Amino acid sequence: MSELLPLIDSFGRLHNNLRISVTDRCNIRCFYCMPAENVEFMDKQELLTFEEIERFVRVVVPLGINKLRLTGGEPLVRRDLDQLVSRLAAIPGIEDIGLTTNGILLAEQAEALHAAGLRRINVSLDALTPGKFKQFTRRDGFEKVIEGIKAAQRVGFDPVKVNAVSVRGLTEEEIVPFGDFARNTGVEVRFIEYMPLDADNAWEREKVLFAHEIIERLSAEIMPLIPEGNQEPHAPATDFVFEDGIGRIGFIASISQPFCMSCNRIRITADGKLRNCLFSLEETDLRLLLRRTGSDAEIAAAVRASVAAKKEGHEINTARFIQPERPMYSIGG
Ligand code: SF4
Repeated sequence: MSELLPLIDSFGRLHNNLRISVTDRCNIRCFYCMPAENVEFMDKQELLTFEEIERFVRVVVPLGINKLRLTGGEPLVRRDLDQLVSRLAAIPGIEDIGLTTNGILLAEQAEALHAAGLRRINVSLDALTPGKFKQFTRRDGFEKVIEGIKAAQRVGFDPVKVNAVSVRGLTEEEIVPFGDFARNTGVEVRFIEYMPLDADNAWEREKVLFAHEIIERLSAEIMPLIPEGNQEPHAPATDFVFEDGIGRIGFIASISQPFCMSCNRIRITADGKLRNCLFSLEETDLRLLLRRTGSDAEIAAAVRASVAAKKEGHEINTARFIQPERPMYSIGG
């Protein structure tokens, strides 16, 4: 019976949320994630197939996993993603499937994804002007992202959330426009403190624009933000609403207010490596087990061992911090 015990680590954290990276490829080049040029992507045969991803999810559901999030790279560049969503939505025990996308291909895929059973979408958008968008992404595409957000709302995704990475020297001018955007569109805007996961290892603490600074600016220039009641205990974001009740703003303050002690997440990379933390320096290779040699019990045991070995949290605020070798685009948000 021990093989069905929930996934609880040595700090008493229950893990029920799996993030699945379906590709490392992307159609833009955000500086806080990817190198500008000469990116080496995985070959197709290195990627887990939809069958292997489905098998893995069927193995971890009895261990208590019931929430899934599809990530990349950019997940919408993986062909027929809606078919994967259908497969996963059909697995008994899966209660919720979300997706994190850069929105460039969303307008054309929103309907099929919703029909397949996807219910929540987070769109990564760091600026509300084409020029600043390009400064972040090193590519054009701003208008397509806005079209994608509208399409997602139109087909019924609710909530649609926007994730904006907050970088000092770039985000300040976007703060009030994002506040207005949240109030005018009903989209929830979440500011994510810039994290050391970039391929160029160029992250600096001085470049992080902290959540409290953004709250001060919004409260001063629009109106006070009120902490939202009944926060989901394991959610990485802390949510607020403007005092008149119009417009929701969230903060993922990984640097200034780490939330590791309520973490319920594990990740599998597109090439089948299990990571018990976004900043983990170790990985467990599950592809061979999934592809050829392993039984479901062996895979479950490997997952359990990885969770048991999970550290207390990221050590970004300590002298011990070592940035993982694997960059963000190959881990998934
Ligand atoms: S840094 Fe690691 S432990 Fe902390 S919240 Fe993120 S995934 Fe969880």
